[in-house]
Amino acid sequence: MADSYNDKSWIAELESALKEESSISNGEENGFISDELRAEIWKSCLGVHSRSTYFDEIFDLPEQNVLRQDCQQFVAKLGNAEEDKLSVLSDLESLLTYHRKSVSIPYTTGNGWVELLLPLIALKLPRAETYLLFEAVVSKYIPRGVAFYHLFRLLLLYHEPALCSFLDTKRITPELYASSWFQSLFAASCSLPVITLVWDLYFQQSDPFFLLFLALVIVINSREQILSLKDKPKQYIVEALSGLPSALQESDVHDLCSLAQYYSCRTPGSFRQDLERCLFDDEDCPEATRAITQALCLPVNVSELVDNIVSPQELTSADGLRFFLVDCRPADQYNAGHVSTAFHLDCNLMLQAGDVYKTAVQGLLSAQQQALDAGSSAGGEHLVFMGSGLLDQDQYTHMVVASFLRDSARYVSILNGGYHALHDYYGDSIDFSLADHDNIACQVCIENNANSENTSLQSAGGNANGVQSPSRDIFGKIGAVVKSKSVEVKEKLLEYIVNPSGGDVERHVKPSDKIGKRYRNMAPVFSIDDEHEPQDVGWNVAEEDDSQFEVVSLSSWRDRNDIIETFECKELKMNGETYESELLVSKSHVYVLRHTGKSDSAKVIVRKPLSAIVRITRKKKYPQLITFKYGSPQGDGVNITDMDRFVIPKANDATNVISQQIFNLLKRDGDSEDGTGSQ
Ligand SMILES: [Zn+2]
Repeated sequence: MADSYNDKSWIAELESALKEESSISNGEENGFISDELRAEIWKSCLGVHSRSTYFDEIFDLPEQNVLRQDCQQFVAKLGNAEEDKLSVLSDLESLLTYHRKSVSIPYTTGNGWVELLLPLIALKLPRAETYLLFEAVVSKYIPRGVAFYHLFRLLLLYHEPALCSFLDTKRITPELYASSWFQSLFAASCSLPVITLVWDLYFQQSDPFFLLFLALVIVINSREQILSLKDKPKQYIVEALSGLPSALQESDVHDLCSLAQYYSCRTPGSFRQDLERCLFDDEDCPEATRAITQALCLPVNVSELVDNIVSPQELTSADGLRFFLVDCRPADQYNAGHVSTAFHLDCNLMLQAGDVYKTAVQGLLSAQQQALDAGSSAGGEHLVFMGSGLLDQDQYTHMVVASFLRDSARYVSILNGGYHALHDYYGDSIDFSLADHDNIACQVCIENNANSENTSLQSAGGNANGVQSPSRDIFGKIGAVVKSKSVEVKEKLLEYIVNPSGGDVERHVKPSDKIGKRYRNMAPVFSIDDEHEPQDVGWNVAEEDDSQFEVVSLSSWRDRNDIIETFECKELKMNGETYESELLVSKSHVYVLRHTGKSDSAKVIVRKPLSAIVRITRKKKYPQLITFKYGSPQGDGVNITDMDRFVIPKANDATNVISQQIFNLLKRDGDSEDGTGSQ
């Protein structure tokens, strides 16, 4: 030993190893450490500095017999030579007794200490150094408290909701199968060679939460195997689960750690700030613990959300985590201030109008997909649901989140504190930070004003009604606002929420465009087909005169410079006939070209200026069934003169492209182009 310390070459090797930061994300380096360097690198990663420790060798614990027996059993299994066994045994018992006394936590069989110590003893360091390593591993990496298990369940729910729900229905909590994993940093479940490699990589990560992701990968990798046990008794499944890490081979370790890192990068990290002190620093954080044990799904903090949606450029790497914010507040609250890229899903619809709600959810998913496809800054795979932040108002938000989870939606999280927290976060810069913020109608502003009025009343010796009175006041005010605006709100529901192909995606793509405002004084062009809506125009039931249509070359029309996009569609005629056709959208017109059966020839069936489209409706039950209504504005309403119906497989894309062009048209020409439907 002394010789090797005098030989400086190992220091150079160690330095270069540390300099290279052999991280597991780096394909060149596998992060494993040579046996000669392991002890030094572990000490360096764990921040262990030599310190003399006095072991008094007094074995007088109340549970000394249990501890001794457990140590004997372990050493017996090791298969070392007999003289080694004796020294290992005495080291084990001595170190654990010392530890037990210094932390004042009783030893219990299976609490992970023995298992945790063995890989460290295998380094064959002086006893004091072994102990310092052990102490460092325990204090840095072994989680304290139940919150860790709840957190693990939330992560499983986040990434594999179906598997999580399977275990939930079997009442199998992570405590039952993962406690030995977590308490021993997997040492209790893996062979010594495997755990040595895992720790090589683990300590270099220096992330105490990495444990969760290793466990997550182990469970997720056995997803099919676990789900196939659905008819087995609970205890059988628990044992199968807890035995999973024992199947790991040395050759699996690198993949395991790479995958764990992959999941770690794709998980919102707010829980780290919330729980690190509580789980690893022996601090009592009852609130953080309660929050995580009662959480419906993984929580995301405002700061993480804002970083993600405001500076998404930094997150464009394939590894990045991208959020899609879903604002669940009622329409009037949304309209009084919202994140410009948020998708609005009014959760009250869930109870009040189930069908409309379902359509709105479909709209959400397709808007998300479109935003993803377009690479828009609002396009993230990870859904963050935002409520108002007040418990009594967020029950619908929670129901909606629960329904997404029930449908096994992945990547579902909820914004801690909701809109209130966001409002507080932005503080005085709220007007610049939110779209359409209106401090007369914004609920938080109303509340803040009421609070300050209340405070001044109190300080003036007025009647203090206690804490509840301002919020009751606010309810009254909001009720009035909602009532007086109900008509407007209804319109906005159609405009913003119900129709997925309307302005929402546009707002995602270009949050700077205030489409909402421009559209505010217009009848909504896009709406869900209302069953009670009277047929506002008679169909032309008469037979079409086929010969009146111009015959053109399909390919040359598709290639026209002004054609923005082409969609397959099927014309539906009143007499029941259907035709295979194509819908072409240009900057100024929509065209429908009907296939003639001869290659490349088509008839121009519809040729309408965009300004003639006064309404696009879709059936609730058949979202691909789209009706275009043509006409012109007349007073407050519209005069509909003609209509066409289509089945469009990519209905969302089609209506989206058309809406985009109508918006552009409005931008260019203002209101000067009143509809003059011509054919
Ligand atoms: Zn406000």
